Amino acid sequence: MATGLGRSQRFLSCMVTFQKCNCGVLSKFPQLSTSTYLHKARSSSERIKKSISQTGPSLTDFLRKSQPSQPALQGVDNVMGSGSYLGVHLFPGNNRSVYIETYGCQMNVNDTEIVRSILKQSGFVNSSSIEKADVVLAMTCAIREGAEDKIWRRLHYFKALKKRRGKRHSLKIGLLGCMAERLKHKIIDQEQMVDVVCGPDAYKDLPRLLVVTSSSNQAAVNVQLSLEETYADVVPVRLNSDSPSAFVSVMRGCDNMCTYCIVPFTRGRERSRPLTSIVNEINILSEQGCKEVTLLGQNVNSYRDLSSEEHTSSPTQLSAGFKTVYKPKTGGKRFAELLEAVALVNPEMRIRFTSPHPKDFPDEVLDTINAHPNICKHIHLPAQSGNSGVLDAMGRGYTREAYLELVEHVRKAIPDVALSSDFIAGFCGESEEAHKDTLSLMDIVKYNFAFCFPYSMRQKTRAYHRLEDNIPKEVKMKRHEELHATFRKHAEVRHMSQVGERHLILVEGESKRSSLDWAGRNDANTKVVFANEPLSYGSENGKEKVLAKPGDYVVVQLTSATSLGFKGKAIYRSTLQEFEEQRKKEDRNVCASL
Ligand code: SF4
Repeated sequence: MATGLGRSQRFLSCMVTFQKCNCGVLSKFPQLSTSTYLHKARSSSERIKKSISQTGPSLTDFLRKSQPSQPALQGVDNVMGSGSYLGVHLFPGNNRSVYIETYGCQMNVNDTEIVRSILKQSGFVNSSSIEKADVVLAMTCAIREGAEDKIWRRLHYFKALKKRRGKRHSLKIGLLGCMAERLKHKIIDQEQMVDVVCGPDAYKDLPRLLVVTSSSNQAAVNVQLSLEETYADVVPVRLNSDSPSAFVSVMRGCDNMCTYCIVPFTRGRERSRPLTSIVNEINILSEQGCKEVTLLGQNVNSYRDLSSEEHTSSPTQLSAGFKTVYKPKTGGKRFAELLEAVALVNPEMRIRFTSPHPKDFPDEVLDTINAHPNICKHIHLPAQSGNSGVLDAMGRGYTREAYLELVEHVRKAIPDVALSSDFIAGFCGESEEAHKDTLSLMDIVKYNFAFCFPYSMRQKTRAYHRLEDNIPKEVKMKRHEELHATFRKHAEVRHMSQVGERHLILVEGESKRSSLDWAGRNDANTKVVFANEPLSYGSENGKEKVLAKPGDYVVVQLTSATSLGFKGKAIYRSTLQEFEEQRKKEDRNVCASL
């Protein structure tokens, strides 16, 4: 970056930012003013540098240094003192325009909506043009090497764009999300790629970081993880507010410490939003016409709201045969209660959730899913491997046998449930036999959908420190292809067996291939494409026919299938409840005729 500052000066500028945030790293200097701190810091820079390793703090550092109460913006919140979550007047955006690129999972999409809301509150405006924007932000993902490589290429492009503009139209570049936490030193010190680095728990501090970097021309960093931040008080700004679907973050972080996974290090410990704040947000979405909400969390079904006094003190129930790496937790409003509460907001609104861990499906969760027609009968059960030895090395807390018993139990509890899964090909030490066990598990379960990835080792993970990434790349790729082909083979057979059935489709919008077709999803979250023709309401014989629109439910007869979706013929428009009534009536008729 063209600041003319040496590396140590840039490091100090980051530390000033930390100090203002009350973060644990600089809590040693709580009484010092910024200028005093700068002086002291220069004379003790080595000591400070030792306090952060070159690759950033480990989870242990985070646990040790995290404050028990809100750490990121405590000072600013106190200044505001009226429930406002931002120091709006202290760090004004002055209508500067911000362009955001989002990479990675749905959590990142939702985090982008949270960031938009925070920036809007501070007077920044959204830009859809990178060329015209004053600030460019990248919401990043560190889960796989390929994702990071892509983001590095974009950062080089941003840097070139900034250089081209020069002083004519200055550009500030910011890195948000998981990569920010993982690679802060490399990005700021070595590569000098960005002006702002802001971790997943520090978004409320982003307006201040942008103001600091603009006024000082120095880099500003806050990657402090929090034990409490859930952004419960931030109403996300949805970019596509016309979409019938919305995502609502209900918990953050993960305590599972699967050995291959970077999430516990980049996102921190599990914490859940108060149930009431989630229900309030979903009520607002319902009033705005939203027809589908997906509850989000890194381990969503481990949800545990401790904010209210009125909750059970009983231990958390796990799926039979599953265990955790942490001590049993007690108390809190659990996932089943959350599901029940959000399902009751609007019986015409579909409820989905992702991403769950198979250990957190006690009967109370399965019974709640089964009891509410608007909770979709689709469960993601990430297996990762079908071999007990590999599962043990991954630290997943279950065996192949326990997983298969859970599958059987789920299918008994929720008839016609659709199952999907995640699989990793070529994890450390995975033999050919172990890989075949995974293929055979797929043959037994016959998933509706599966995400398959070749393993890529991430620094900081437990596998990085303890295991050897000893499967050659070409073997990983070959196994990945085999997993993918096996899932597709079974999904195609499963989907072909449904041709002729009538499914309720929530219309999302035009099909990508033809503006004459609508695309939507069935209860199992599988895509269905059908011709956009006028339809009557309630039955195919109605007189008044109108075109369906996004957000409408349409009963579609499936006419053909592939492993990834269906084509169908639209029959009539309906509601979720009427369709359910019709389905029950047909079931009763079938029973009576037997
Ligand atoms: S459950 Fe395992 S894989 Fe999923 S986020 Fe947590 S540590 Fe990562």
